[in-house]
Amino acid sequence: NRQILLNSRPVGEPVADNFRMHQGEIPSPKQGEMLLRTVYLSLDPYMRGRMSDAESYADPVALGEVMIGGTVAQVVESNLDGYAAGDWVLSINGWQDYAISTGEMAINLGKSPAQPSWALGALGMPGFTAYMGLLDIGQPQAGETVVVAAASGAVGANVGQIAKIKGAKVVGIAGGEEKCRYVVEELGFDACIDHKADDFAEQLAAACDKGIDVYFENVGGKVFDAVLPLLNTKARIPLCGLIAHYNDTELPAGPDRMPLLMGKVLAKRMTMKGFIIYDDYGHRYEEFATDMHQWVSEGKIKYKEHLLQGLENAPAGLNDVLNGRNFGKMVVKVNEP
Ligand code: NDP
Repeated sequence: NRQILLNSRPVGEPVADNFRMHQGEIPSPKQGEMLLRTVYLSLDPYMRGRMSDAESYADPVALGEVMIGGTVAQVVESNLDGYAAGDWVLSINGWQDYAISTGEMAINLGKSPAQPSWALGALGMPGFTAYMGLLDIGQPQAGETVVVAAASGAVGANVGQIAKIKGAKVVGIAGGEEKCRYVVEELGFDACIDHKADDFAEQLAAACDKGIDVYFENVGGKVFDAVLPLLNTKARIPLCGLIAHYNDTELPAGPDRMPLLMGKVLAKRMTMKGFIIYDDYGHRYEEFATDMHQWVSEGKIKYKEHLLQGLENAPAGLNDVLNGRNFGKMVVKVNEP
């Protein structure tokens, strides 16, 4: 049982030495348990937070423990009602080949789901995040302008497509021409602006000629700086993530722009609301699952995966996500089904 353990806590960007490959025994399931074999491992930005012991909404991974991670696995052996050998399961095996599960936090996907790995993306946590953050906090109205960054990624792609379904004008922000083209041509956003362009702020302002009513915040940094002056009165900002800052070791140098931000929030009566998907919305999963399965079956939601081969490539893959080198939802194929 290959396992990738947290070896040390990163300072800044994670390095190879923060991880350690370990060969463990394949565990045996007791009564009320099942043995799962990982097929797909999801790589997500939150994993950087769990490597750190700074105070957060969830406990860190302990040193020497298997890295946490959502997985799509198959049942090898089951002593658990409702699960049989061969079933596909959405689970939290972490970065390893095999794991024991009691069924807690697991969903049985059946014998032959159409796209098993989608349960890690559009049909799972990132899709759920997009759906609840946008619809419950953002509340886009037809004709309003919605902006989302990391627009080709797991969350952002769904935010924009759902906002289109709701009749909004959608402007994406992404890193590089290829991603921007995909966001407009394949995902159907009205525009997509490259945040690496020298005149990024001017291009964004031109694309948002009626200002911004909903800004779905995935990124922070210079993207937020460009968005702030464009926000309309009563704008809503679902605060989902700040990936531009996850490897920071200190606050950025001054000047202190807190008064600017607070002044805008006040004068424009804006709402900014943070959320942690399962903590805040776990009880509404069915609502999401019903709508999303329908939209996918109707072809209204498109989805792109960035598939890496081999568990040993997970550490580098996580850095790729943190640095925008993924194109689509980052997933590692750990084993053949
Ligand atoms: P993505 O698949 O979108 O991958 C991350 C992307 O972030 C990169 O591809 C890159 O896209 C973009 N990015 C990274 N650094 C920067 C930067 N400095 N400036 C601008 N863009 C940057 O990841 P996810 O969809 O999984 O996650 C998106 C966000 O949602 C993250 O902030 C994550 O933490 C958050 N999240 C929050 C949840 C919650 O419950 N609150 C749950 C799930 C996710 P590009 O190349 O286009 O810039």
